[in-house]
Amino acid sequence: MITIQGKGVSTGVALGPLYFYKRADNTVPRYEAADTDAEWARFKAAQEKAVEELGELAEKARAEAGDEAAMLFETHQMMAEDLDYEEAIEAAIKEEKANAEAAVSDTAAQFAEMFASMDDAYMQARAADVKDVSGRILNILLGVVAGGIDSDVPVVLAADDLAPSETVQLDKSKILGFVTEGGSGSSHTAILARTMGIPAIIGLGDQVKKEYEGREVIIDGGTGKIVVDADVETKAILLKKQTEQKKMREMLEQLKGKPSESIDGQKVRVYCNIGNPEDVDNVLANDGEGVGLFRSEFLYLSCDDYPTEDYQFEAYKKALQNMGGREVVIRTLDIGADKQIAYFNMPEEENPALGNRALRICLNRPEIFYTQLRALYRASVYGKLGIMFPMVTSVWEVREAKKMCERVKKDLDAEGIPYSDEVELGIMIETPAAAIMSDRLAKEVDFFSCGTNDLTQYTLACDRQNSDLGRFFNPHHPAILRLLKIAADNAHKNGIWIGICGELGADLELTEAFLSIGIDELSVSPRSVLPLRKKIREINVPLVKDKILAQLLGDETPHV
Ligand code: PEP
Ligand code: MG
Repeated sequence: MITIQGKGVSTGVALGPLYFYKRADNTVPRYEAADTDAEWARFKAAQEKAVEELGELAEKARAEAGDEAAMLFETHQMMAEDLDYEEAIEAAIKEEKANAEAAVSDTAAQFAEMFASMDDAYMQARAADVKDVSGRILNILLGVVAGGIDSDVPVVLAADDLAPSETVQLDKSKILGFVTEGGSGSSHTAILARTMGIPAIIGLGDQVKKEYEGREVIIDGGTGKIVVDADVETKAILLKKQTEQKKMREMLEQLKGKPSESIDGQKVRVYCNIGNPEDVDNVLANDGEGVGLFRSEFLYLSCDDYPTEDYQFEAYKKALQNMGGREVVIRTLDIGADKQIAYFNMPEEENPALGNRALRICLNRPEIFYTQLRALYRASVYGKLGIMFPMVTSVWEVREAKKMCERVKKDLDAEGIPYSDEVELGIMIETPAAAIMSDRLAKEVDFFSCGTNDLTQYTLACDRQNSDLGRFFNPHHPAILRLLKIAADNAHKNGIWIGICGELGADLELTEAFLSIGIDELSVSPRSVLPLRKKIREINVPLVKDKILAQLLGDETPHV
């Protein structure tokens, strides 16, 4: 039996075989083809498989999001079989004796360059398509496992760390839990694990060895402990804990339908964070009262090219409809920093967290913003929609974003397309500048939602992705709590509501503080709804308020 200690970032006990994430190795091998006919046959087989896969994706997209979504994959199918493209690859293999991988990679680069240099914007956009199709054929040639998991049974997934673009591609039905070498509690892998309600342990360094692959492991996301080949006694203890946790959850079920209200009658709305419309099932199963954060960038991350207006419209509409009139706050695209998307072709940055991300990209590339806002407003007639902008630092940014909303509404009016007049517009408070300027910003919007993951990162100058910074990344730091109080006071002075949608919202050690400063909404992972409601119902705000407010102004305590 081997015991390993890491940092638990999503509670629960899971048992299953350990499986290492199979990352795509994108290095293209280059060698002289000894048998060019055999090499050509390899390419033809890979091409055929790619066309087949694209056909399946088109059918799936058609069923989930309509004809326009399917068209993208059908275009890719045609591109994979395009005669000029095929002839260029054939020439590389048969005349230059290139191996199939090198031939595909070089042809893709040539064609992408040719498309990119054309004047027509439509043709320029084909550069991304040809890269994408070629990437698919290359993956088949290289034997890369789609979705990173090639197992018939669910597994405990081990990885160094996972990028958001990788996590969205995972086959979630195959994952019992996550264990990662690096990572941090506020990284998107940890957030995903909490949204899925499965245990996760991070910061394991090199303790989880490759030779453990396939062996049975038990992980306890509460304590951060991993046991490989547990002895009978240890296994019994951990499985008993798993049963107790299940019982505890069953007890919490009694709180479904009950108000999230403190003993003295202060109401807090307990909402959920989601990454795609399918997560709504989980929200409803846990009695979430609304959606406080729909991370729309996860739609972009799971696509191979810019999602069209119709594709997005269907996704937003589905979330709104399935929430049956309960509020859904959708955050506009928040990419950049750790959430990189290849087809955006963003230049590399020295400090991506301080770079061109989130609202900055939307304001710099208005065509992307316009498409998303049109999809959002069109969907607004299907429920109660809130739109919020991430990474705000200045009043002018909000004004510019609002202007774009007005332009969208005007265009929809001109086209006779309906939208709701009751869409609330809000901003995330996730930079110190936004919190400090919240008196001004509150006059511009209908609500604030505090992104404490980034607010902690930017206030403490501490990278949220860096597992080595552990105790320095302290979301309990009084600087954060003071900023939240400033924003809450300014929100209320201006008659708007304020929520918290960062991971701190679910931190039960701070629920008293949040109620004391008057937070109106806490948006958490679906599994945290009922424990949070239980906590809220046990608090008597007038009894704790003075002590808590005094503490907010007090010294910081080291984070453990
Ligand atoms: C945050 O920063 O707290 C937040 C909710 O957004 P994200 O974690 O997606 O950056
Ligand atoms: Mg953020």
